[in-house]
Amino acid sequence: MRAFVIVDMQNDFMPAGALGVPQANLLIPMINRLIPQFSLVVATQDWHPLNHVSFAINHPGKKVGERVVVEGQEQILWPVHCVRNTKGAALVDGLEKGQIACAFFKGTDPMIDSYSAFFDNAHLKSTGLGEYLKTHEVEEVVIAGVATDYCVLYSALDALKLGFRVVVIKDACRAINVDPEDEKKAFEMMRTKGATILRSSEV
Ligand SMILES: [Zn+2]
Repeated sequence: MRAFVIVDMQNDFMPAGALGVPQANLLIPMINRLIPQFSLVVATQDWHPLNHVSFAINHPGKKVGERVVVEGQEQILWPVHCVRNTKGAALVDGLEKGQIACAFFKGTDPMIDSYSAFFDNAHLKSTGLGEYLKTHEVEEVVIAGVATDYCVLYSALDALKLGFRVVVIKDACRAINVDPEDEKKAFEMMRTKGATILRSSEV
């Protein structure tokens, strides 16, 4: 059994959103074409409280892009984004949601961020996705969405650690590229750790 995991296709991560990922909107029709190829489709959503540790406004004197250490975890500071129950946190308009069996929420704890769809950044708490996939006898996880250099990367690495075969659909992902090399490095790391990188036409 294989599952399609759609990562963070939310309004705030679209180019016009609060934490826009360049060209993320181009993924909508591509992901919609991929969905019918899977019998199990799940989505993840960044889902933050307003007092979330990743928001620069919650660290007086700090700016977006700066790094802080909170409870031993390094945290990059972002603009306010994906506040739970807001339009920005909703799955993007135009995404075919009918076949999405379940959404998994991450970054819900005010004190810790969660790039991975499976665990928070300290690996203390599960989102439930890993258990859900095991319950459904999933062996292969196919990943698309945003952002390649954060949530896609850490989701793929955790899926590998959990023992899933992992396929990442390169042209169905987009990166933030704080450093212009980040996307390239992310794909290299995923491949090195055992993920298969395919194009959408090869899935
Ligand atoms: Zn976030």
